[in-house]
Parts: sequence; C-alpha cells; structure tokens
Amino acid sequence: MKKLACQDIGLNCGYIIEGKSDEDIVKSAEQHIWEIHAIKQEEITSEMKAKIKQNIRNS
Ligand SMILES: [Zn+2]
Repeated sequence: MKKLACQDIGLNCGYIIEGKSDEDIVKSAEQHIWEIHAIKQEEITSEMKAKIKQNIRNS
C-alpha cells in the first residue's frame, strides 16, 4: 500500500490518501482535492502534481 498526506502537497488538511499504486494515489488525490478543497482537476497546477508524485510513500 502507498500513502500521501494531503498537507505534503501544500494544503492545510490532515487527510491521508491511501492506494495500491502511484496511479491510484494520483486519482484519489485529484478526487479528494476536488471534493474537499474545491479545486478542479484542470485547476491543479503542475507544481501540485509534482508534489503529489514526490510525496507518495510506501506504507
Ligand atoms: Zn485535503
């Protein structure tokens, strides 16, 4: 399993995203960012996308 802390991508949030693969995490992160932070997928900056990929950890 892999995980990503929402705060590691620069948002003030205690949510931890979990998934089976990096791809899974990216998808869940995009969904979480939309549902909780009201940031649309197309509004996610390349900087934020890079942070998502850089901060995925093995759990
Ligand atoms: Zn969040």
